[in-house]
Amino acid sequence: MPTPPLSPQEILDIDRQHVWHPYSSFLNPTPVFPVERAEGVKLHLSDGRTLIDGMASWWCQLHGYNHPVLNDAIKTQLESMAHVMFGGLTHEPGVRLAKTLVDLTPEGLNKVFLADSGSVSVEVALKMAMQYWQSQGQPEKHRFLALRRGYHGDTFGAMSVCDPVNGMHQLFSHTLAQQLFAPQPECGFDAEWDERYIEEFAQMLESHKGELAAVILEPIVQGAGGMRFYSPRYLQRVRELCDQHSVLLIADEIATGFGRTGKLFACEHAGISPDILCLGKGLTGGYMTLAATLCNDKVSEGICQGEAGVFMHGPTFMGNPLACSVANASIELLLSRDWQAQVSGIEQQLQEQLGACRELPAVADVRVMGAIGVVELHEPVDMEKVQPQFVEQGIWVRPFGKLVYIMPPFVISPEELQQLTGGIYRVVAGL
Ligand SMILES: *Cc1c(COP(=O)(O)O)cnc(C)c1O
Repeated sequence: MPTPPLSPQEILDIDRQHVWHPYSSFLNPTPVFPVERAEGVKLHLSDGRTLIDGMASWWCQLHGYNHPVLNDAIKTQLESMAHVMFGGLTHEPGVRLAKTLVDLTPEGLNKVFLADSGSVSVEVALKMAMQYWQSQGQPEKHRFLALRRGYHGDTFGAMSVCDPVNGMHQLFSHTLAQQLFAPQPECGFDAEWDERYIEEFAQMLESHKGELAAVILEPIVQGAGGMRFYSPRYLQRVRELCDQHSVLLIADEIATGFGRTGKLFACEHAGISPDILCLGKGLTGGYMTLAATLCNDKVSEGICQGEAGVFMHGPTFMGNPLACSVANASIELLLSRDWQAQVSGIEQQLQEQLGACRELPAVADVRVMGAIGVVELHEPVDMEKVQPQFVEQGIWVRPFGKLVYIMPPFVISPEELQQLTGGIYRVVAGL
């Protein structure tokens, strides 16, 4: 007899006693909601309620939950193998994915390291940059210049380049590598360019170039560190300055990749190509954990010519075939549809409907880009109070700090999106 599933109450009881959730406390727990299944853009809770998902499970859902094509990709792959090691072995789904990523990403990026999560792909990117300079006989170039309000993940290397104030620097200051931080870009996406916007960044880059391995940033959209959008011109100037001062450029497109900003990759807004690129989140259409770090010939040749002769990283689950096959299917599905029309439809509707929140007293700013909508409040929200209110509205929205934001799956219908924006309006109106 198979073990019967836990009841919803048992799930909640055991969860509260034993299970860590992201950024959670056992002493002061915030509510969690058991999900029984998910379909399209809807999460079905075990208490019978249905929520429209505004979070795309933290940016990664593109095509909707329980998608037949993606389900089939995994089932078919499962029939041949779930996993084999990637050291000394290779396989069709991994190779196919690498080729697709090389073809789709900005010019010059042609070597692919498959990693297990976004944070790991950032670690890999940082290590690539450090190993590159090591092998060039310049080991003193081992630090990184990052932007304030940036977010790059939760592992140690990644934490060291996250915003030093709202990141975890205080807590881990004794062990974190000390990096350099330029001010966050202040020029909005459409703002008229003024060279003063990049002045401080340029000065820092120039005066520290002798110790800098790379600049790391999220192109165009700073995600979890503040949900801020900035000018493509800024990114172009960063690329030029990095070239001028011999510093590599790492673009972290883990959140922005695969169409979220209206371009397949946010670097395309500026027409630039980084030396190293991190992808994750939407890579598998939200099905499995998988990430990738791409680099150009300069970086790969530099690393391989060095003393170590090889790139020093190799996760156990590298290139997991199930994850690679669902990534292949997800990318194919994305490109087979007019995803740009979907994203720009979402953008227009968000402009209009989230824009209405500007009139509410609790609201400081509303901004929209691609399939990303942000309502910034004057005060941080009380999650314990507000999270159940969103659920009562039939929507899944999970704010952080002063930010109420959504980035729905691209397949959301106008009616479903209206429920999301209407629910946000009503909850924020009551703050
Ligand atoms: C989410 C995110 C990461 C970390 O990815 P994980 O898969 O959560 O480790 C890194 N960089 C950016 C820009 C992200 O949005």
